Amino acid sequence: AKSAGGAGCRFFEPEMDARMQERRKVELELRRALALKQFELFYQPQIDLGTGKVEGFEALLRWHADEGLMSPASFIPIAEETGLISQIGAWVLRTACMQAAKWKRPASVAVNLSPLQFRGSDLVQTVMSALSHSGLDPERLELEITEGALLEDTDLVISTLNSLRAIGVRVSMDDFGTGYSSLSYLQKFPFDKIKIDQSFVQRMQHSGEASAIVRAVTRLGVSLGMRTAAEGVETEEQLEAIRAEGCDQVQGYLTGKPMTNSDAAALLSE
Ligand code: C2E
Ligand code: CA
Ligand code: CA
Ligand code: CA
Repeated sequence: AKSAGGAGCRFFEPEMDARMQERRKVELELRRALALKQFELFYQPQIDLGTGKVEGFEALLRWHADEGLMSPASFIPIAEETGLISQIGAWVLRTACMQAAKWKRPASVAVNLSPLQFRGSDLVQTVMSALSHSGLDPERLELEITEGALLEDTDLVISTLNSLRAIGVRVSMDDFGTGYSSLSYLQKFPFDKIKIDQSFVQRMQHSGEASAIVRAVTRLGVSLGMRTAAEGVETEEQLEAIRAEGCDQVQGYLTGKPMTNSDAAALLSE
């Protein structure tokens, strides 16, 4: 380990110590959560704009902690820092496949992968075992990855994407347009779908630029043979704007909030 001398002394400042302790506490709680089955998947409908029907659901992780229901934004970063994400991620994959396999209609299920999980050496094996254990048709499984998974080692990323596609699952580029994601990613990596980040959808009415970006990404999707989806659609106006740009799919509070598995299953039986 590095010596704690010089600027490293900051390490011992009380607030840093408190942060480390908090992290360790959450780590123990997350381990306990796995053992006690405190995790649950919620499902948010994804609507095909061509047919107006529910095409599938995105699985969104929830934690029933002692303090109440926790959003993944609050604990996924700690799960990543501590390496627990691989166990949690495997649980998410297994559970999403098992639950989706029991839905009455063969809708798709989209699972979020953290960048660490995507780069892990056992990803393809974990996906195959979730599929075979559940009996889910691989074509019904979609994996969503963010640009963070794409930053290093282009060749490895391409070969992982190709291995996943070879088993028949689809891969989506999530949160497109945020962070460092660039148009070159779409050309370089074989995605099936581009999910346009909700920040663009929410700015469209007030910003000609946001609309122009949504339009450009949608056109690019068509020419690259990728479907496009718009996230975070909350109003009828946003839905109409998205429809006008020719996106294939929408997801947002307007067309359905994240719901329990039994509500999702019931929605498909309607
Ligand atoms: P995401 O993948 O971009 O998921 C969409 C987020 O937007 C979800 O938040 C969803 O509840 C929320 N959302 C959906 N429609 C609307 C809308 O109309 N308006 C607004 N304002 N928000 C909307 P959630 O469930 O809190 O998840 C946050 C993030 O946590 C996700 O963002 C994803 O990055 C991550 N996450 C969720 N589940 C998992 C998981 O199983 N594994 C990993 N690694 N990450 C996960
Ligand atoms: Ca997602
Ligand atoms: Ca997203
Ligand atoms: Ca997001």
